[in-house]
Amino acid sequence: MTVTKEWTQNTTLTAKKYVQDVFETVQKRNPGENEFHQAVKEIFDSLVPVFAKYPKYMEHGILERIVEPERLITFRVPWVDDQGKVQVNRGFRVQYNSALGPYKGGLRFHPSVNASIIKFLGFEQIFKNSLTNQPIGGGKGGSDFDPKDKSDAEVMRFTQSFMTELARHIGPDTDVPAGDIGVGAREIGYMFGQYKRIQNAYHAGVLTGKGLHYGGSLTRTEATGYGTVYFVAEMLKDNGLSFKDRTVVVSGSGNVSIYAIEKATQLGAKVVACSDSNGYIYDKNGVNLATVKRLKEVERKRISEYVLEHPGAEYVEGCSGIWNIPCDIALPCATQNEIDEAAAATLIKNGVKAIGEGANMPSTLAAIDAFLKANVLFGPAKAANAGGVAVSALEMAQNSMRMPWTFEEVDDKLHTIMKNIYKNSVQAANEFGFEGNLVVGANIAGFLKVADAMIDQGIV
Ligand code: NDP
Repeated sequence: MTVTKEWTQNTTLTAKKYVQDVFETVQKRNPGENEFHQAVKEIFDSLVPVFAKYPKYMEHGILERIVEPERLITFRVPWVDDQGKVQVNRGFRVQYNSALGPYKGGLRFHPSVNASIIKFLGFEQIFKNSLTNQPIGGGKGGSDFDPKDKSDAEVMRFTQSFMTELARHIGPDTDVPAGDIGVGAREIGYMFGQYKRIQNAYHAGVLTGKGLHYGGSLTRTEATGYGTVYFVAEMLKDNGLSFKDRTVVVSGSGNVSIYAIEKATQLGAKVVACSDSNGYIYDKNGVNLATVKRLKEVERKRISEYVLEHPGAEYVEGCSGIWNIPCDIALPCATQNEIDEAAAATLIKNGVKAIGEGANMPSTLAAIDAFLKANVLFGPAKAANAGGVAVSALEMAQNSMRMPWTFEEVDDKLHTIMKNIYKNSVQAANEFGFEGNLVVGANIAGFLKVADAMIDQGIV
């Protein structure tokens, strides 16, 4: 698109048209990729005021470039199951944007994984990573492999096959994957072992989320959940509120959920519900975190088993009903699009005061609109769940220095990073006339740094 000085006069209209044109191209080029379109639309819409104020970003074609991944790798992942049968999964890595540093972002192993999911996650990761103020670009990856109900040996064979291809594309200064849904310490460990074997090199910095005895960082396990709660605590504080004595509902019972529950409870809240992909538990006395941790982290069981040990609690089949439980603060920490417009309306009707998105894109666009219209405090994923990748960047720093920090040191840094993300998002929202809208604020604050770096680096 050619942008002349004249063309940039009627700024807002011009900016809107620019955004719309690029969005239409995205839709045409990536047909049927609904999650990707949704993530792109949310970000694009909030950038209109930026292009209106600073036409240089249009002149440099930033939007057209930033939305096109630098590289998208798809590959076959063959492996043999415990019955001796050959299985084939599909592997992905999107190396989205390296303007700020090596590609950085998790790997997701879940049957729903496809190009649309990986691209939505990778695109969001660019802005999230920028918000952390750490030197990391955006990437994401994964596979449609389902680690649930697989034996350890099957998970190992799959991850070794996955890493055999991925290894040629990653490196401590090029691309540093981490975990996400279905990828925890076990999977990272197997992948690290295979990387080392293939590359004949111990590059501690090639993956993050590693075990503590071979280069992992203290607080990485807790980082996303703790970070989400730190972010929401800032948002509440700014509005004269806190977690103390508040009722909280957290969806999911994986890595992010468990540590969100832990930190919210430490701050004086009562968490009354959590879930997995089969259903949710409601414990009016407050969820017993030790039981959840043991069931999910150690025994890899279903959340339904919680009620066998806590007969006062209830188990309900199906996940979406969790948002019918009245609460002051809701922390969706499971997966994308888990809060739709109807769930948002129920939460609002029940008096919810704040939402903190621990998961990526857990609220639909209509749900976000409803929360903002109802003046519910809303912490968008990009900002609220950036603590995980921020501590991954701290893990990379420790690996480069070959010097580990204590739990307290990393936790302090995480806390400071989350406070800064909040502050910068508020400032950006205010500067562009969207007071109180952290969706717009986070998108703009994340975008500006990447866009400026892209301009500095020329048309690449
Ligand atoms: P885990 O695999 O540890 O846990 C995911 C949880 O969500 C599980 O309880 C799982 O249930 C549930 N879940 C998964 N899919 C669905 C579904 N379709 N419907 C309902 N529940 C579902 O993943 P994480 O905790 O790591 O990730 C959770 C979210 O947080 C994701 O959106 C991820 O992208 C995001 N995130 C994670 C970060 C991290 O550091 N781990 C960093 C930033 C964001 P079940 O056990 O039944 O599968």
